[in-house]
Amino acid sequence: MTRRALITGITGQDGSYLAEHLLAQGCEVWGLVRGQSNPRVRRLRELLGEVKLVRGDLLDQGSLISAVERVQPDEVYNLAAISYVPMSWQQAELTGEVTGLGVLRVLEAIRVCSGISSSRTPGSGQIRFYQASSSEMFGMVAESPQTERTPFHPRSPYGVAKTYGHFLTQNYRESYGMFAVSGILFNHESPRRGSEFVTRKVSLGVARIKLGLERQLRLGTLTVRRDWGFAGDYVRAMHLMLTRDVPEDVVVGTGVTHSVEDLVERAFGVAGLYWRDHVVCDAAFVRPAEVDQLCADPSTAVKQLGWEPKVGFDELITMMVESDLALLSTPGARGDDPFGHDIW
Ligand code: NDP
Ligand code: GDP
Repeated sequence: MTRRALITGITGQDGSYLAEHLLAQGCEVWGLVRGQSNPRVRRLRELLGEVKLVRGDLLDQGSLISAVERVQPDEVYNLAAISYVPMSWQQAELTGEVTGLGVLRVLEAIRVCSGISSSRTPGSGQIRFYQASSSEMFGMVAESPQTERTPFHPRSPYGVAKTYGHFLTQNYRESYGMFAVSGILFNHESPRRGSEFVTRKVSLGVARIKLGLERQLRLGTLTVRRDWGFAGDYVRAMHLMLTRDVPEDVVVGTGVTHSVEDLVERAFGVAGLYWRDHVVCDAAFVRPAEVDQLCADPSTAVKQLGWEPKVGFDELITMMVESDLALLSTPGARGDDPFGHDIW
């Protein structure tokens, strides 16, 4: 029988890749969209045609219950969040509400619609739930590389909110026997990444400089290290986690770490430019508390899910720079990022 999936955060980077992947697997895909008129929805429809949409907002419990009642999903992927770390300091309360308490509201919608009463003993629940946990929970890392057993020490309101959502997912699994799992995903990027994140900011910056639209790229701390992978690879792991017999949290990353300086060197190199001629360090982009280094130990994902990344760092950065060069070179396409990000 065709499985039905509901994705929150469908208009984001991962939502689009996951929708494409699930459609290719033969699933019926529903996306939760918020707002009266969300410009990213139109672009999503053009891209994916086959996705059905349902209204809802992670701030509104009733809307989530209605969405789950309407869709009757077999699986729910909670990708919606305020996901940009600097914004989580500027709007800490909203980040707590959406990225943290939003997880509670989605889990409650599933619990209520599944008829699981608060006193019911573990072992019930038909709807499988995936929570988008983050390597930002490791924050000031206790060990390297990070595994499913590494303690958390989040360094931003975003990381704290994700840690709440992570433990809550575990708690609903233990309290109600729900098939509820968290993927602890390390940074993953693509040409669809928001322009505020460093990889896309760099790929767009390189494209603008190459095309003579800008001369400089202003960045924050260049020494920090991340385990960067390709979003299209990571959504496969999300789906695999919901196909297992046992609900279990899994770390997903490449196991290879690079600095922001490595990133800019590679990205400028793809365009035949030398990064030191263009990159300017700007204190405005330095964070109040930094996550200095992240590196995944993906051995559980490899062994238990049979997952491994197909796209490496060099290929990923090349893909992003080439995509932004093409995007900004197309007459009439400037400022019209198909994912609705403000690229100016
Ligand atoms: P994006 O920022 O691209 O997408 C976020 C999505 O959340 C958007 O679709 C947005 O919709 C939606 N959203 C925001 N607020 C609400 C709300 N109140 N109600 C409903 N929807 C809302 O994130 P990514 O696709 O990159 O990431 C997906 C998830 O994975 C996020 O939870 C993120 O924190 C997490 N994650 C991402 C990593 C990465 O490297 N990409 C790493 C680890 C975890 P709208 O169009 O309405 O704004
Ligand atoms: P994050 O790991 O989820 O916070 O993803 P980002 O892509 O936003 O940031 C990755 C790292 O790049 C962080 O450690 C940032 O401090 C660093 N960085 C350095 N300069 C910049 C910048 O100009 N913008 C962003 N977004 N990050 C930067």
